[in-house]
Amino acid sequence: MSNNDNYSFFTAVENSFDKAAEFTKWDKGLLELIKACNAVYRMRFPVKKEDGSIEVIEAYRVQHSHHKTPCKGGIRFSMAVNQDEVMALAALMTYKCAIVNVPFGGGKGGIKIDPKKYTPYELEKITRRYTTELIKKNYIGPALDVPAPDYGTGEREMAWIVDTYATMHPNDIDAAGCVTGKPVSQGGVNGRREATGLGVFFGLKEVCNMEDRMRKLGLTTGVAGKRIVVQGLGNVGFHTAKFFQQAGAIVVGIAEFEGSISKEDGIDVVALVEHRKRTGSILDFPGAINLENNGAALELDCDILIPAALENVINGQNAPRVKAKIIGEAANGPLTPEADEILLKKGILVVPDMYLNAGGVTVSYFEWLKNLSHVRYGRLEKRFNENMNTRILKEMEALTGKRADEKNRSFIEHGADEIDLVHSGLEETMINATREIMSEWENNEKIPDMRTAAYVVAINKVATSYAELGIFP
Ligand code: NAD
Repeated sequence: MSNNDNYSFFTAVENSFDKAAEFTKWDKGLLELIKACNAVYRMRFPVKKEDGSIEVIEAYRVQHSHHKTPCKGGIRFSMAVNQDEVMALAALMTYKCAIVNVPFGGGKGGIKIDPKKYTPYELEKITRRYTTELIKKNYIGPALDVPAPDYGTGEREMAWIVDTYATMHPNDIDAAGCVTGKPVSQGGVNGRREATGLGVFFGLKEVCNMEDRMRKLGLTTGVAGKRIVVQGLGNVGFHTAKFFQQAGAIVVGIAEFEGSISKEDGIDVVALVEHRKRTGSILDFPGAINLENNGAALELDCDILIPAALENVINGQNAPRVKAKIIGEAANGPLTPEADEILLKKGILVVPDMYLNAGGVTVSYFEWLKNLSHVRYGRLEKRFNENMNTRILKEMEALTGKRADEKNRSFIEHGADEIDLVHSGLEETMINATREIMSEWENNEKIPDMRTAAYVVAINKVATSYAELGIFP
């Protein structure tokens, strides 16, 4: 159960799946096979805290699907972690990977702790012990199951995981590929940190460029000038807000744990993060209004509302008061099924989590490939391309007798760095996924919403894979 005792996140995912499955041609048994969680590992292990006391920790790793391996999915540290939640998140990963053509099965992990209540030393012990438990049961490895950061975890935890795994597998030359989201100095890839937020931005930008969709919503095309509200100023929320701001959108509201604020002429999110570091809160940000509670920003008048914190935040109670025209689900499962129905009736376009926040896993895939190839992207070809581009440019200038504009000159001569390649691969992925889902939706007018269209795309891909593989033995 998640947050409220009557709500099962996994059942909600299954219901969305069933709704979409009706628009596919697959056999019932095959659909059941796709839907089921293949393996659930629930564990308990002790940690000795700095004060000498012993605490028993509850943790999970779920592998939803093995139609492609390794399994892939983040590890979250949160008191809300439970089996139902981890199963739902693992299932979403299967569908997410399929939509963005990342050849992994879905997985997810969770440790039921409030990371704020532990010292860094204790967190390191918990993370290393969790990794050891995964190793003992073959639940981690570059070919088996590859975790990544999620809510409450980041590069630091991923570094502890890769170190633990590599220590126990000294002969595994691909050990760095056992986890993604690592610091760049430990085999991470440039661009992973901001990948999910940038992917959310690319996905929503593509939606905003669709003239028909925007007309139906009473909006103009393009991102510039759009009024944005973001919930959660963590990794995903901060980067999403920052990329929107850089593209000329106006961030009119931000919600965090401690409260929410609004500012009609736009909140500078970088300055807000500085303010929060200094004061410990987003409240009392110069020029902004403190709203009555942390949920209030969700109900602000805006063009795009981006929940980027946790699941279940827009539900039957507050959905009727949501005024946004578009909701971009940056978090996993921020809308309950009840909210989904209410928003659909109100004509709000919901851009679904299972593909919109796939930027993280897409760039994780790039990181894994980098780890297996043992070479940084661009290392071999950057200088070669620069030399070749310079020659072509000089030749063209000699032939035409004209000199290229200085700005264009430096762009043409530039050879791609790792970050350029990662961002371009991510943009390509998010644009293609958006178009594929939209075209599925447009080609079948009975499909009620974009979430169902996204599930149809995912089910078709996973089912094709299973159908071709056959059933073993
Ligand atoms: P994070 O821990 O970096 O940030 C989450 C932020 O939300 C924190 O700042 C927290 O204080 C805030 N928050 C919590 N409850 C809140 C509330 N009730 N109101 C307002 N703010 C609240 O986590 P993250 O990595 O940014 O993940 C956020 C969401 O995005 C999760 O649903 C996660 O599963 C999803 N996601 C993350 C990634 C990734 O690469 N990190 C990838 C895909 C999906």
